[in-house]
Amino acid sequence: MEKIKKIAVLTSGGDSPGMNAAIRSVVRTCAFYKIASVGIYRGYQGMIEGDFINLNARSVNNIINKGGTILKSARSTEFRTEEGRRKAYKHLKENEIDALVVIGGDGSFTGGVVFNQEFNFPIVGIPGTIDNDIYGTTHTLGFDTALNTAVEAIDKIRDTASSHNRLFFVEVMGRDAGFIALNAGVGAGAEEILIPEEDLGLDRMLDSLKASRKSGKSSSIVVVAEGDKTGKNVFELADYVEKNLPEYDVRVSVLGHMQRGGSPSCFDRVLASRLGVKAVELLLEGKTNLMVGLVNNKIKPTDLEKAIKGHHKIDTELLRVSDIMST
Ligand code: ATP
Repeated sequence: MEKIKKIAVLTSGGDSPGMNAAIRSVVRTCAFYKIASVGIYRGYQGMIEGDFINLNARSVNNIINKGGTILKSARSTEFRTEEGRRKAYKHLKENEIDALVVIGGDGSFTGGVVFNQEFNFPIVGIPGTIDNDIYGTTHTLGFDTALNTAVEAIDKIRDTASSHNRLFFVEVMGRDAGFIALNAGVGAGAEEILIPEEDLGLDRMLDSLKASRKSGKSSSIVVVAEGDKTGKNVFELADYVEKNLPEYDVRVSVLGHMQRGGSPSCFDRVLASRLGVKAVELLLEGKTNLMVGLVNNKIKPTDLEKAIKGHHKIDTELLRVSDIMST
């Protein structure tokens, strides 16, 4: 295998806080090892179009604290075609790029694996998504920041809920995964948490809300993940409760995209810095098709295919804790 002299980095799929800190880490690690680095704009679409920029240690000054991604992100349908991927490979070769760091979610990693199989191109992935739904890491980049954002928002909603004796349904992101709902729910002291992984049943929720009112609580917060298992969206849930518990004045708040933005937390900045160093070091050791992740507080590689196919299980112990806390 030829020695790696130039590494490219891209951000792909949904953006998440900490992506800039990871770009910075990849670029600075390349500079440390005296190899060149290149940024690819707009994920795989920019790779297909040859939208590249040469980077050096100074190009990534003052971005560790910034949300979003300076390289922009995109979803590319063209990269799903062999022709698109061939164009992308041609641009990498023309620019003498030897390896690629992909910062993104499981879709981005799937694209990376396909690309590697076709062109034998070295790739390492950094898990960047607020959903925390990737196997091989206890934390994805942006998850901690998104949690803090959600908790801060729920705290504010609680202020108004308690002033008016209201019941609030707060929807947080997580179409297929309840990590944000469960952790932000416990962190913000929610009475009930509804997630896609567990069907706790509507009757149970009604009983719990009745009990909480009886015990003297005048306001309540129910945190709902986008993809909760009851089959009802947050507005239908609110209607259902209003019909069955008319004593409650019910309101809905959908937090939405604010959860993706904002300055990354210290945890995400540190994680991004560690993941970026390891990603570059693995490529320099001649490794490929790996994702770097946090396991038992150490940065460890996982096979990219395993990271895509494996399932990061939710800690249902937190549901039990939440139940006890809402007594
Ligand atoms: P998020 O978790 O935020 O959705 P993601 O990385 O999973 O992030 P996707 O939109 O699923 O986001 O994937 C990002 C890009 O990866 C796609 O737009 C596409 O270009 C590429 N990709 C995904 N799946 C494949 C595939 N099977 N073959 C080739 N490319 C793919």
